[in-house]
Amino acid sequence: MTHCLAYAAHEARAELAPLSIERRALRDDDVAIEIAYCGVCHTDVHYAHNDWNSTVFPCVPGHEIVGHVTAVGPAVSRYKVGDRVAVGCMVDSCQHCAACESHEEPHCEHGITATYNGRDRATGEVTQGGYAQHIVVREAFVLRVPEALDLRFAGPLLCAGITVWTPLSEHNIGQGHRVAVVGLGGLGHMAVKLAVALGAEVTVITTSPGKADDARALGAHHVLLSTDAQAMKAAANRFDFILDTIPRKHNVNPYLMLLGRHGKLVLVGALEPLEPIHGALLALNNRSISGSLIGGLEQTQELLDFCAEHKVLPMCELIAMQDINTAFERLERNDVKYRFVIDMATLRD
Ligand code: NAP
Ligand code: ZN
Repeated sequence: MTHCLAYAAHEARAELAPLSIERRALRDDDVAIEIAYCGVCHTDVHYAHNDWNSTVFPCVPGHEIVGHVTAVGPAVSRYKVGDRVAVGCMVDSCQHCAACESHEEPHCEHGITATYNGRDRATGEVTQGGYAQHIVVREAFVLRVPEALDLRFAGPLLCAGITVWTPLSEHNIGQGHRVAVVGLGGLGHMAVKLAVALGAEVTVITTSPGKADDARALGAHHVLLSTDAQAMKAAANRFDFILDTIPRKHNVNPYLMLLGRHGKLVLVGALEPLEPIHGALLALNNRSISGSLIGGLEQTQELLDFCAEHKVLPMCELIAMQDINTAFERLERNDVKYRFVIDMATLRD
């Protein structure tokens, strides 16, 4: 076991504060990683605030982890000391159920071990995430960061990126598709960049008029203000595909109305009960609605490689670990441009 300095939520809604945690001694197939950067996901805020009544305190958030390998167990074959690696939202799964065998680890029939607030499969201990100096992770759940990706910007691909990449690939989004992204935050801005890189015509649907210029700078072709009833009405039936990243309970009906024939809306944001959905809005145009959860390991590596090749990088605001509470407040105010990334070197200060 090794001591590790981290930042934790000690109780619901309290400010995050330093905490010393233990990382396990290396198992045969473990990789020890010194964390260089960790992205800040809105999910971290949900857990720190115990929004889903499932947080075990103290909780060290963080599941957009990048860094360097510092040690490997004797059975590790793919990584060596010094390698640039990444860890996302999961650190283990059963590895033999139908879901795991089809590279859909997030849907492991026996449940995944989440990077934080999960349960270690061997000891039952609560897992602690990436707002920390280092982490120990089973080799199978460690990804490789291509040389062409700047480590400072790679972190957000591990959650924000893969969460939007999975539905975009599953629905074969590309040229000729009219795509709308609802909510221009961490997930939303990656969805814009990736959908544009795939060749789609992209519209950002936002509640923030001040984000219109940024949306265009990120590559969006159009911007629609969801609070502008006239503009929303004029956009009825316009889109083939809508990705909804709104982080809380909301009314999906105004967005469903924007889907054309056989249009699909995929929810990735709100993981809680929604306002009732109007059945007629689904029947009209044969619209459908579904959800999507992060993505498998193979797909995450594919995304890292795609971003390296196509130079698709998140737009990041680097912060010191000590600024995490301000970052959480700003996330709650929709004031994020467009992903906070913690420079973990500041944790020593
Ligand atoms: P974020 O950076 O805070 O972005 C969310 C954006 O949604 C905001 O910037 C805002 O954009 C818009 N928004 C916020 N409140 C809204 C409201 N009441 N009505 C309409 N729009 C609203 O959050 P994120 O990190 O992208 O995460 C988004 C959600 O995805 C979180 O709930 C997170 O837990 C969830 N998540 C899910 C998965 C998964 O596997 N499915 C993975 C990661 C995260 P505008 O200013 O443009 O309106
Ligand atoms: Zn996340």
